[in-house]
Amino acid sequence: MLEVTGVSRSFGGVYAVRDVSLNVADGETCAVIGPNGAGKSTLFNLITGHLAADSGRISFLGRRVDRLPPHRRARLGMSIVFQAARVFHGMTVRENVMVGAHGRTRAGFVSAALRLPRHRGDEREIGAAADDALERVGLAEWADRPADRLPIGQQRALQLARALCARPRLLLLDEPASGLRGEERERLATLVEELRADGLTILLIEHDVAFVTRLADRIVVLDLGQVIADGPPAEVRADPLVLAAYLGQ
Ligand code: ADP
Ligand code: MG
Repeated sequence: MLEVTGVSRSFGGVYAVRDVSLNVADGETCAVIGPNGAGKSTLFNLITGHLAADSGRISFLGRRVDRLPPHRRARLGMSIVFQAARVFHGMTVRENVMVGAHGRTRAGFVSAALRLPRHRGDEREIGAAADDALERVGLAEWADRPADRLPIGQQRALQLARALCARPRLLLLDEPASGLRGEERERLATLVEELRADGLTILLIEHDVAFVTRLADRIVVLDLGQVIADGPPAEVRADPLVLAAYLGQ
């Protein structure tokens, strides 16, 4: 589904991502781990087009996308939940989620965030997609409540619903469990497992190795912008390079 080949990006002469290659197969859950500053978020932004690569190729569903702007890649079926994503205050939970469907068009996102009037038919269709997404993440009963009142665990679910509202093929999650603990963390893990069971392809950044070991079919380890390991969780966790670079052992 996704092929990243030899992608690099530097900031002020320092590589944030260096010659990274990784593939994600249809239906797979792949995790990207690595220490802070390893280049994980930069890699996601290169995949979604929020940052331009200096070199390398990115193909999605058999089509080269590395020159396409983010909204064109979104329209092909990529959805991202950014690290530390926010909810829009002064909007209901459903309105927050509906913004996701408009992320597919540049103007749409802005007009949705500003709540400009739209075509009635579109509005209905997007409302239905939002309700499906809210149902999927277990937030249906919160739909008409103000989004800023949601507890942190449900805010994370809302962000997932917003990404799902665009009906993606590939879902990119940048540290979805950060700031969550105990039961909230468990609920999020279960939700990701359910999305995977639905057949969604997931690329996930996570700090907690135990958390991804349970969720991911494959783990890619980044260190200093480069891939130092790529394989099934059990194999990657036993890799001496990974232990040295990431686990500090
Ligand atoms: P991670 O998500 O793995 O913590 P990042 O991708 O955020 O890492 O950052 C990788 C490196 O690139 C870091 O050294 C960071 O300071 C640098 N970096 C990321 N984005 C920018 C930017 N917009 N401008 C300058 N440096 C950046
Ligand atoms: Mg990051």
